[in-house]
Amino acid sequence: MIQDISPKEFHNEYKAILPDPEDYVFSFRGRELLCTFEENGEVRFPKAGDIGIDKSEMVYLFEIDGTKFFMPKREYGFFISEISEDKAPEHQYRYEDIRVLRGANPGYLCFAGITAYHLYVWYRDNKFCGRCGRETVIHDKERALRCPRCGNIIYPKICPAVIVGVTDKNKILMTKYAGRAYKGNALIAGFCEIGESAEDTVRREVMEEVGLKVKNIRYFTSQPWGFDSNLLLGYYCELDGEGKIKMDEEELAKAEWVDRDDIGDENSNLSLTATMMMYYKEHPEEFS
Ligand SMILES: [Zn+2]
Repeated sequence: MIQDISPKEFHNEYKAILPDPEDYVFSFRGRELLCTFEENGEVRFPKAGDIGIDKSEMVYLFEIDGTKFFMPKREYGFFISEISEDKAPEHQYRYEDIRVLRGANPGYLCFAGITAYHLYVWYRDNKFCGRCGRETVIHDKERALRCPRCGNIIYPKICPAVIVGVTDKNKILMTKYAGRAYKGNALIAGFCEIGESAEDTVRREVMEEVGLKVKNIRYFTSQPWGFDSNLLLGYYCELDGEGKIKMDEEELAKAEWVDRDDIGDENSNLSLTATMMMYYKEHPEEFS
């Protein structure tokens, strides 16, 4: 999955440090990220020494195997407008849709970019204190924003959501979303609401989207999904009773039982959804 960058190690403990010229800088403009692709197809990001921003205008994000990643501060608009056209070709960066990071190489830089995007959205959307309206400042000791007037501390926003593999012996329930850019196969999915456990979310979402009751809910694994500020929690469960689907047509374009043997291999293993489909296909003994 996108976060599986082993043997490289991701360290996200907050540090109040400034960049060296060789450290990477992520600059976002809406859902676009400043990057370039080398001749071999590998994605590259600008380095602190390549761009015309004073290093005190950068905020530290995280580190992977000693490589540090920064972002221009909010006061700077997160935006780099001074990448000059006359630089060498390998430094001619442009803003690309962040979806280019899905499946690009090397994987650890894609994971870094997706994670940086999650942090960017949080910094951008918390410019003002939600309690008193004063402009927030970066906390100097931890990953947080602080309100200098009322003392409110704003921690990163992570939205938990479930991905659900509903199975009935040798069949799994697959869906396609209605009205979304992603047209591939999906599983039942939805956000955890305030006041419910993740297992409650599983039961509620399956009932809402396809009108089915489920039992034997068990946790599989999780995935940080910075594209939408999520922490995805994967669960499998079994159909309880009648398997006739009553699809929510506002949410879904398609929902059907798919035979294990008909699950295609075209799915990459980048997403938790694809990983869960393939795990179901390849481990029939666990779903009898
Ligand atoms: Zn405040």
